[in-house]
Amino acid sequence: TAEIPTISEKTLSSILEKNRTYYTQGKVADYIPELGKMDAKAIAFSVVEKNGRVLNVGDVYKKFTMQSISKIVALMIAVKENGEAGVFDKMGYFGTDQPFNHFSNLETTGKPLNPMMNAGAILTTSLISGEGEKPFLKILDMVRYITGNQTIEYNTSVYQSEKSTGHRNRGMFYLMKNNGLISGNEDQLDNYFKQCSIELTAEDLAKIGYFFANDCIRFDGDDRYKNAEMSRLILSQMLIAGMYEFSGEYARTVGLPSKSGVGGGITVSVPGKMGIGVFSPALDKHGNSAAGYHMILDLARQYDLSLF
Ligand code: GLU
Repeated sequence: TAEIPTISEKTLSSILEKNRTYYTQGKVADYIPELGKMDAKAIAFSVVEKNGRVLNVGDVYKKFTMQSISKIVALMIAVKENGEAGVFDKMGYFGTDQPFNHFSNLETTGKPLNPMMNAGAILTTSLISGEGEKPFLKILDMVRYITGNQTIEYNTSVYQSEKSTGHRNRGMFYLMKNNGLISGNEDQLDNYFKQCSIELTAEDLAKIGYFFANDCIRFDGDDRYKNAEMSRLILSQMLIAGMYEFSGEYARTVGLPSKSGVGGGITVSVPGKMGIGVFSPALDKHGNSAAGYHMILDLARQYDLSLF
C-alpha cells in the first residue's frame, strides 16, 4: 500500500475552515432533549497518524456524547466473549436503507439486520456478561483503554434524557425479548443508554478509529488486544452500516469504514494507516454530522484515502 504523506495541522485547519459553515445545513438532534442543548457552531477535527502522532484543530477540548459510535466497542466485547457465531446467529450482516431506529426484520425474520442499527446494538450489549451495570462498565473501560484516556465518563443528564424518552428503543428491547433473543431485564437496556452517553472528544474518536484501522493495536503501540480478524469484522460493519442509510453512498464518496453518532461525532478508520475523528453537532437528514461529513470527504480526496 502506498505511503500517505504526512498531514499538517495547517491542512486540517484549512479543511475545517472551508467546511465550518456546513452546520447551517444541518440541525442538532433534539429527539433526546438533552442533546438539543449542544452548540451547533462547535467543530473539531483530529487525526492520529501511523506513528501515533496526534493532530487536533478546532474545538479540541469540546466533549460530546459518543452515541452510536459506542456500538463498535460493544460489538468487540460481545464477540470477544461469545465468539462471532454466538453474536451473529442472533442478528444479520445486512446493510440497510432504513434509519437507525427502524424495526427492520424484528417482525419478519425476528432478528435485527446488523449490530450497527439500534435493535442489533441493544441486543449486542445484552450479550455482554455481567449483572446490572457491569456490561456498561466493560464498554466504558474499553473506551478508556483504546483512547488512553482514563478521565472519560458518561453524561448522566444525557443518560436520564435517553432513558426517559427512549420508547422506541424500549419497544425493540421487548420485541427481541419476546422473540427469545434477549433474556435479561431492563438493566440491559439501561446499559445501552449509558454507553450512548459516554462523553469524549474528537481526538478520542480518532484514537478509536486508529485502533480498528490497525488490527486493534492502540495508537501508542500497546498490542494486548491485537486481533486482525476482529478489526476486519468491525470495519466491515462500519462500512456497510456505520453511516445509517447513507452508508452505501458514503462508501462511494468517502470509501472508508466510519461510524457516526447523533451527538455529532464520526470516527473513521483508514485501514493500516490512521484514525480520524470529527465533531460538529448539526446533523444532515440521515443523522450524520453535516460539517463532519464534508471535512472527512475533503481529507479523503486530498490524500486519496478511499479504499477503492
Ligand atoms: N442514543 C441514540 C438512540 O438509540 C443513539 C442513536 C445514534 O447515535 O444513532 O436513540
